Amino acid sequence: MKTLRFKKDKVIKISEELFPDELCERCGRCCILHAYKTENGLEVIYCQHLDKETKLCSVYKNRFEHGCLTVMEGIMAGVFPKDCPYVKDLESYEEPWFYRLIREENE
Ligand code: SF4
Ligand code: SF4
Repeated sequence: MKTLRFKKDKVIKISEELFPDELCERCGRCCILHAYKTENGLEVIYCQHLDKETKLCSVYKNRFEHGCLTVMEGIMAGVFPKDCPYVKDLESYEEPWFYRLIREENE
């Protein structure tokens, strides 16, 4: 059986061309690694590289060396909230369950 192979640097380049940085609204939500319900509401665990004050990545230029996904990979893995500019026009996109709860808590 053949295995599909691709080079990460090529994926990075194509992803950067298709999904320019300027679209990002710097909300930091796609940097949530885990979310779970507790008695006190939703608890979220952010990536250790996210500065929670500024919502900016502290290793942005080298983020792929820290295991971060490209936007293209993030879409395939379903990591973005549905109102993120990179996916808001994709009809078949399904967001992770916890983003709805985050929106409700912030209303
Ligand atoms: S969810 Fe979208 S807009 Fe928010 S930080 Fe991530 S890529 Fe940017
Ligand atoms: S490496 Fe940076 S961009 Fe990637 S998830 Fe972590 S904080 Fe977010």
